[in-house]
Amino acid sequence: DRMVTGELQEDDTSIELSLRPESLKQYIGQDKVKENLSIFIQAAKMRNEPLDHVLLYGPPGLGKTTLAAIIANEMGVNFRSTSGPAIERAGDLAAILSSLEPGDVLFIDEVHRLPRSVEEVLYSAMEDFFLDIVIGTGPSARSVKIDLPPFTLVGATTRAGLLTAPLRDRFGVLSRLEFYEAKDLCAIVERTAEIFHTTITKEGAIEVARRSRGTPRIANRLLKRIRDISQVKGEEEISLETTDQALGMLQVDDAGLDHIDHKLLKGIIDGFQGGPVGLDTIAATIGEEPQTIEDVYEPYLLQIGFIQRTPRGRIVTAKAYQHFGITKHEE
Ligand code: ADP
Repeated sequence: DRMVTGELQEDDTSIELSLRPESLKQYIGQDKVKENLSIFIQAAKMRNEPLDHVLLYGPPGLGKTTLAAIIANEMGVNFRSTSGPAIERAGDLAAILSSLEPGDVLFIDEVHRLPRSVEEVLYSAMEDFFLDIVIGTGPSARSVKIDLPPFTLVGATTRAGLLTAPLRDRFGVLSRLEFYEAKDLCAIVERTAEIFHTTITKEGAIEVARRSRGTPRIANRLLKRIRDISQVKGEEEISLETTDQALGMLQVDDAGLDHIDHKLLKGIIDGFQGGPVGLDTIAATIGEEPQTIEDVYEPYLLQIGFIQRTPRGRIVTAKAYQHFGITKHEE
């Protein structure tokens, strides 16, 4: 298992439920998104209408699921959660939608992975709250119209561009989650420490924040492991020294990168003189899926300026060379 991926790992589930903030107020950072949502929520409540459909997009682990549940809380309605690949047939969608109460929030994670046949049925459900589905096959097949309670669909995806245009157009609110600023991530680390019934020094919290790729899920996961080591050492509060030692043991480097990032960057440096090199070529060289590289590994490397995207492919920057202590010879 990878320590510094934003994707959900088996070990996370035991801690995540207790760490989920429950209101917009408790949700740290992402100020722009919160401000927008808060206005839309207030307006919908004043009109006594369900909230418009919301699309949340951004890298894994930034708080899309958390925010979806908060929207339901703030609206005072039930929260139902599923995922694109889990809804295999139009009938599955019909069963979920017709069991909702008026105004409920239906969260669909990985909404870009809905089967096409399901997606097409979803259009009228989102737009006019009815389903048009075909029952039976052959000559006895007939189409039935089912009225639905009004509801809010909250969809999540790693990239808005992965959605088809007709689906994307049916969301009234599009919110992009960004990597967290260090100060916000630091506040999340301190909040998590409190829920863990432990304390961490300011320097320790800053260090965890700095090496967590701007991602709350990673920060929480790292803190859990650091706490264990601190406890074994008998510390009263988690020190910077222990934080640094623990992160070293977990093979998270000074910039929050791990062996997979190293493999990716070194692959381009050693194999292609630092690039430019195409995504598919990189993927084949290091044995990873292009989509995983694009959605999970690369966004943070782009954010910190270790990789650049050009029309001719990816380039590893001088800043990344410096990180490895090698000099980049520009042509
Ligand atoms: P995503 O759905 O984008 O993959 P999640 O909503 O599952 O991410 O968030 C992962 C974890 O990170 C949550 O369990 C929660 O504890 C924490 N988290 C996310 N965003 C915040 C935030 N703004 N404030 C505090 N904790 C957060």
